[in-house]
Amino acid sequence: MNKAIFFDRDGVINKLVLNPKTSEYESPHEVKDLELMPNVLLPIKTLYDSGYHLFVVSNQPSFAKGKTTLENIKEVHIKLQKTIEAYGIIIKEYYYCYHHPLGIVSEYSGECECRKPKPFFINKAKEDYDIDLSQSWMIGDQDSDVECGKAAGVKTIMIRNEHSSKKRGSSSPDYLLDNLLEVINLILK
Ligand SMILES: [Mg+2]
Ligand SMILES: [Zn+2]
Repeated sequence: MNKAIFFDRDGVINKLVLNPKTSEYESPHEVKDLELMPNVLLPIKTLYDSGYHLFVVSNQPSFAKGKTTLENIKEVHIKLQKTIEAYGIIIKEYYYCYHHPLGIVSEYSGECECRKPKPFFINKAKEDYDIDLSQSWMIGDQDSDVECGKAAGVKTIMIRNEHSSKKRGSSSPDYLLDNLLEVINLILK
């Protein structure tokens, strides 16, 4: 069996972006808004080199909410993937949920099976890549990430991102850290 690390994306790998229309920090809605968090590629590479299968599990509801286009979301993804691959890291799968329960684009709105905190994508990775969930981790910056990881039975790490603090507090992560560099010390100790 394989061990895995499941990364939330926004607020963990790349920065959250201030949306002037809502005054909230949100996902990057255009490729020009994509900027990595500081010091993330080295720790991700270190985990990759240690033999972990890496996955991204990310809710991307901004098209469903009418805030950007699906093309823009896909461009952001492609730029991120290229940046990560250029550093010598392979992410096995990027699992994206494009739905939102209260969206305005009908085919992407309403309840779905794949939106975190549901553990759908972690379970899919388990089946597709023979993952030992008891040896695996979910790393995120919101309660929904921790709840997703707990529902799947992986160990959970919450990263304190200053721009998502309103979305933390109701879950109980196994570890609460400030950045991915600290994750290295924890997982590879
Ligand atoms: Mg996040
Ligand atoms: Zn979904």
